[in-house]
Amino acid sequence: MNKPYQKPAQDEPVWWFVISAGDILVTDDKQIPHGYLSELPMPDLREYKTVFIGELRERHCYLVIADFGDTNFSAVGDFISVRELITKDDDALFAMAARAKQVADFLATHRFCGRCGARMQAVDWELAMHCHSCQHRCYPRISPCIIVAIRRNNQILLARGKRHPEGLYSVLAGFAEAGEALEQTLAREVMEEAGVNIKNPRYVGSQSWPFPNSLMVGFVADWAGGEVRIDPFELEEGGWFDINKLPRIPGEGTIAHKLIMRVKAEIDQERNSES
Ligand SMILES: [Zn+2]
Repeated sequence: MNKPYQKPAQDEPVWWFVISAGDILVTDDKQIPHGYLSELPMPDLREYKTVFIGELRERHCYLVIADFGDTNFSAVGDFISVRELITKDDDALFAMAARAKQVADFLATHRFCGRCGARMQAVDWELAMHCHSCQHRCYPRISPCIIVAIRRNNQILLARGKRHPEGLYSVLAGFAEAGEALEQTLAREVMEEAGVNIKNPRYVGSQSWPFPNSLMVGFVADWAGGEVRIDPFELEEGGWFDINKLPRIPGEGTIAHKLIMRVKAEIDQERNSES
């Protein structure tokens, strides 16, 4: 079994996920640094915390935690937002970058025990922080968040969030609250944000969303009643859009895009079977 603080072998080409203040190091051609350490212009990594975080395309992946404003990696490339790694054809790479960002954030925010205040120690056989004073143990926090595309005949409900770029519309989303099943989160969030009832929710897929630690759980559901009333505290505007006359929507590679395309596929399929 691989342990979190094992070191890469000298003769092993690996993926290096270097995180600084939540951003990730990429080479000049926007790739994650990959290969033998001796062939990359990296600083001396003994000065840095490195964590084994998994495998990508049969190569080991290591997180390297760099300082805020660290310039020692400038010969390799630049730090960019992990968002820029979302593409339509490499879910696995984005997922590993999402993991690297979240593990770095976890280690940075769990240096002291939340129960008794003592310094915490990294567990050597699993990714966790442990307090030897009171035995409190913490794991990386993951926050489940539903995201749902709501369909009414040939239309889809889209809304513009207050932080969305101008003209960009997306599906509804919201965090699960303590004690809720996701079915309850779906019904509550959709009612709160848009004032409508839904039925027949169907699970489509999920995506780790490391801003900072969401797990987006994606559904398609059918409208079951109610006029759209957009919550002005969370959303700018929203309403029903013809599936063939969509506004600007989130890019390929996002779960939001996948859900919108799923609704379109359902509608297209029904039209084809009718004709
Ligand atoms: Zn403690």
